[in-house]
Amino acid sequence: MKMLLANAEAWPGFETTVEHLKQGGAGIDAMVAGIGKVEREAKVRSVGYGGWPNMLGEMEFDAGVMDGSTRQVGAVGAVPATLPVAALAREVMQHLPHVMLTGAGARRFATERGFAVDEVLHPDSRRVWWERLQKEMTSAQRAAFPTIPLAPLSHAITDPERVRDTTVFLGRDAGDHIGVVTSTSGWAWKYPGRLGDSPIPGAGFYADSRYGAAACTHTGEMTMRCGTARSIVLAMRLGRTLDDAVKLAAEELSELKGGFLAGVVIHAIDAAGHHRVVNFRCDEEIRYWYWDERMAAPELRVAGAIHC
Ligand code: ASP
Repeated sequence: MKMLLANAEAWPGFETTVEHLKQGGAGIDAMVAGIGKVEREAKVRSVGYGGWPNMLGEMEFDAGVMDGSTRQVGAVGAVPATLPVAALAREVMQHLPHVMLTGAGARRFATERGFAVDEVLHPDSRRVWWERLQKEMTSAQRAAFPTIPLAPLSHAITDPERVRDTTVFLGRDAGDHIGVVTSTSGWAWKYPGRLGDSPIPGAGFYADSRYGAAACTHTGEMTMRCGTARSIVLAMRLGRTLDDAVKLAAEELSELKGGFLAGVVIHAIDAAGHHRVVNFRCDEEIRYWYWDERMAAPELRVAGAIHC
């Protein structure tokens, strides 16, 4: 059964992907096409052009794609001046013997593959970034910025609660291929060079067409410690139901001690056509888009909380 699941921020591209899937398009291509629209939409304030910069006021994008039928992966991290980055991650998967490129190397490869050098810092993001930074810096820090140690500012400014999110698309196409695509600008005011979970296979995303797929948003610092997306797919391989697999992953998150602990949203589908989206300790209401071929139109639904 053709199906598509994505988080609420996916709205500018969700219908595009659904249309591609309806017409029999390949899942990865359909999802990269849709997520590209999200990345270019300035109104989506957490991904691509509308997203938030790092502590130096620079945009650094992360993205990943996984083909669940071959288990091939492409990922890019901390990429400057490039949109759409999920498309660049697919290029890594298709044209390199590698799985992941970061930073300047990823930008170099983008040029080789014909991606323009883009202006990616939204003027409003620049204004908000600087205002927020000013509030936390002493006058001596302001005068010396940016040649100051940034780590002391990290805890105060890095703001995963207020402005963060990732776009995740999980889909199944007419050939029953399951895939997943992610894209994000990461945490607002993150330390330069920080990678979240969105480009890390096994943490932020994983797909295996025989069992299902999973993708996470919010606190990547937790899902990277648990290998959350892989845990879910492996649990299904070992015979757990989708619900039990998601529960197991949430239990693992709840067992973490120390480090940065906050909320996570888990999105998951199985090969039998079920889906599950759960809110693990996020304060805000979490919504997501869902469509399958039995439905006339996509629906925006509310994720249930999971307590463990
Ligand atoms: N999970 C992403 C990261 O850690 C951010 C998010 O989804 O809010 O970069």
